[in-house]
Amino acid sequence: ECFRVLNNPNITVHFNTEAVDVVGNTKGQMSGIQLRRIDTGEEKVLEVKGLFYGIGHTPNSQLLQGQIELDSSGYILVDEGTAKTSVDGVFAAGDVQDHEWRQAVTAAGSGCIAALSVERYLVSNDLLVEFHQPVREEKKKEIEGKDVEMGFDITHTKHKGQYALRKLYHGSPRLILVLYTSPTCGPCRTLKPILNKVIDEYDEYVHFVEIDIEEDPEIAEAAGIMGTPCVQFFKNKEMIRFAS
Ligand SMILES: Cc1cc2nc3c(=O)[nH]c(=O)nc-3n(C[C@H](O)[C@H](O)[C@H](O)COP(=O)(O)OP(=O)(O)OC[C@H]3O[C@@H](n4cnc5c(N)ncnc54)[C@H](O)[C@@H]3O)c2cc1C
Repeated sequence: ECFRVLNNPNITVHFNTEAVDVVGNTKGQMSGIQLRRIDTGEEKVLEVKGLFYGIGHTPNSQLLQGQIELDSSGYILVDEGTAKTSVDGVFAAGDVQDHEWRQAVTAAGSGCIAALSVERYLVSNDLLVEFHQPVREEKKKEIEGKDVEMGFDITHTKHKGQYALRKLYHGSPRLILVLYTSPTCGPCRTLKPILNKVIDEYDEYVHFVEIDIEEDPEIAEAAGIMGTPCVQFFKNKEMIRFAS
């Protein structure tokens, strides 16, 4: 690359020179760059009308100096194809350890390698501590909020569970919107409040039933649900729309 630059007649390389200032004309426009020779200290103005900064060539690794091995330009040295540095348990990712590609996608990929390496390191050194959500309590709450034989009321708009769905399917004159969810479904959590808002607007004209396919697998299977979230619309015992 250096050779190509030197052989290009449109490019003049100013060796041993630093740019110290940008100078402008009386109209407030840029007219040149103040240059200083590093070896002699001599200064001059190079007349140019534009300036592009080349950035991203100095890794921000000063704080690691003397702590982990860096190369002569300051990049963190890692074992090839890994995130392992010279210090056990310290892993490096991204541009700070990559003097060749330095792209968003390579940085992200190496970040994934580093994250998994950390996890492996913690597991193999018996240092991993897992924290779990109190799943059991949440499940209990969900079941309590579910329509069962005693608590079912067809005048309510929103329902939960297969009992309610069966009752509404056979007995409701309204449009029935069924949302199939599962506890681990992230998009379901996004969709639910949106649907709830729509349902509130059409209250008394629709019924809304949420089916957790883990709690009610039989009805989900009967409805042909392959994944969540999934939405079905029923009217007069017929499915009129299916969206997943
Ligand atoms: C001008 C330019 C154009 C680019 N164009 C593209 C492109 O088109 N496509 C592409 O894929 N890539 C492009 N890149 C490269 C891409 O931006 C990088 O590869 C990518 O951002 C590297 O991600 P990173 O997380 O390793 O580092 P960075 O994104 O640099 O993140 C490092 C972070 O660490 C922080 N940090 C530094 N020191 C400390 C400290 N001591 N304590 C706490 N935080 C600290 C920094 O503030 C920064 O937020 C471009 C880069 C530049 C400079």
